Amino acid sequence: MNIVIFGPPGAGKGTQSNLIVKNFNLYQLSTGELLRKEIKNDTKLGKEISSIINNGSLVSNKVVGDLIEQYLSNKSYKNRLIFDGYPRNLIQAKNLDYLLKKYDQNINIVLKLSVSLDTIKKRISERKDLEKRVDDSREIAIKRFETYENNIKPVIDFYENSNLLKVVNGEASISEISSEISRLIESNKG
Ligand code: AMP
Repeated sequence: MNIVIFGPPGAGKGTQSNLIVKNFNLYQLSTGELLRKEIKNDTKLGKEISSIINNGSLVSNKVVGDLIEQYLSNKSYKNRLIFDGYPRNLIQAKNLDYLLKKYDQNINIVLKLSVSLDTIKKRISERKDLEKRVDDSREIAIKRFETYENNIKPVIDFYENSNLLKVVNGEASISEISSEISRLIESNKG
């Protein structure tokens, strides 16, 4: 089973992906985390992308596409991936489709966490003290929310058309959201 989870920054994608990993024995592929690791390790790629990430814009489709192909082509992750933060625009959604076919896999369910901007602002200001992410400042968080909103509509339509999309109320508590997600995944398994 492969799963896509998306939602605005601060929607709880990371937290919920972790719980899905535990409950369903999958592997979490967070493009944001992979990119932050590159910056932390001061790699060539890290140097190229740090200013893009720090100002809340999107890294190029080619960079993230190459990252996810490394996982899709790896047999130990075959049909065991949860895509957290990818795809973020229509080009990426189509690229994911292409790569899935190339490696003989498919997406079973797409989860969209819906959260208001007010909740995002509150959660990000709480997370800022815990995780110390440079892109969690109030200003940049709002920019990231806008970047998300500006790009995500065609992705939603794309997955709605393929009947894979399930919308989850991301305003609820962590455990309520997690139960709802587990229920959706279980019912999808048939
Ligand atoms: P996240 O941890 O998912 O909030 O991602 C943090 C940042 O990493 C984003 O604001 C983007 O700059 C970058 N990023 C993560 N995933 C992608 C993606 N799929 N496409 C482009 N940029 C991404």
